[in-house]
Amino acid sequence: MKYQTPSTSKEAAVLIQSEPGQAFVLAGGTDLMVRMKGRFVEPDLLVDIKHISAMQSIKKLATGFRIGAAVSAAEMGENTSLKKTWPGVVESANLIGSDQIQNRCTIAGNLCNASPAADAVPALIAAGAKVNVVGAQRRRTVAVERIITGPGTTSLRKGEVVEAITLPKRPPKSGDAYLRFTPRSEMDIAVVGAGVSLTLDSKMVIKSARVALGAVAPTPLLVPAAAQAIVGTKLNKAALNLLAQACCAACNPIDDKRGTIEFRTEVAGVLAQRAAKMAYQRARGK
Ligand SMILES: Cc1cc2nc3c(=O)[nH]c(=O)nc-3n(C[C@H](O)[C@H](O)[C@H](O)COP(=O)(O)OP(=O)(O)OC[C@H]3O[C@@H](n4cnc5c(N)ncnc54)[C@H](O)[C@@H]3O)c2cc1C
Repeated sequence: MKYQTPSTSKEAAVLIQSEPGQAFVLAGGTDLMVRMKGRFVEPDLLVDIKHISAMQSIKKLATGFRIGAAVSAAEMGENTSLKKTWPGVVESANLIGSDQIQNRCTIAGNLCNASPAADAVPALIAAGAKVNVVGAQRRRTVAVERIITGPGTTSLRKGEVVEAITLPKRPPKSGDAYLRFTPRSEMDIAVVGAGVSLTLDSKMVIKSARVALGAVAPTPLLVPAAAQAIVGTKLNKAALNLLAQACCAACNPIDDKRGTIEFRTEVAGVLAQRAAKMAYQRARGK
């Protein structure tokens, strides 16, 4: 197995594209190393992206935040400005595994690993995050919800590498939140995850919202009908009920020992309501 440490994103993309065998990006390695140990994958080439400077930092730009693909979940939690602006996104990253895992893992790796239960993904979808993708020939920008195509599969082409994830500039009176249900309080995979991001007008009426769910379908879901249910309201009981109904209707979960179809479907509505309430309070500055 070859191991390379390129210093630019383009170099990483070219290395992967030119490899005739199986090539993998190595970010934190918290998914990939486990799969390698279990011999589920046997890479011919590992391309370590942690030496690429364009991937190493969190930047606050006029257009929002840019989070490099090699930035760890722990670094996100230490960034006061990011945490204040996007508390839900940061919470979702800081729920992944343990302190040890968060010191290594990245949200780009969480996305590219393409688990339906990936914690950071619903929060990023709710936030309207975009993915900066670098290929050997060209760059492109894709909405987060268009990356995962099924369990373990993505729309990334061979040689395409995620360089950064960007979060849009936040209007005043905005808030987000991410909640998950797990049988254990830590070191467990989401049975359901719900992310909500919303913005209020001067009268505290919701003027825009995005709602996303994880672990209730083959891919994390954006649920526009759930957002529509709360836009134009002050998040009263009727709006919350409609939000829950829309979330339940969007679910297409698996039935396993960690949660039945009925359980996951009901919990999706409950968690989305709680996340919406939390996002609303945050948007009000509370
Ligand atoms: C003990 C333990 C607990 C865990 N708990 C959780 C949890 O609570 N919630 C959760 O969601 N996950 C959990 N995970 C899974 C894992 O930690 C996360 O998915 C993590 O975010 C993966 O990030 P990484 O940087 O380590 O990815 P890596 O393992 O480096 O990569 C994962 C996959 O994505 C690809 N990839 C990585 N970066 C890029 C890029 N920039 N461009 C293109 N492809 C890329 C890799 O080639 C690989 O296929 C846990 C794992 C362990 C071992």
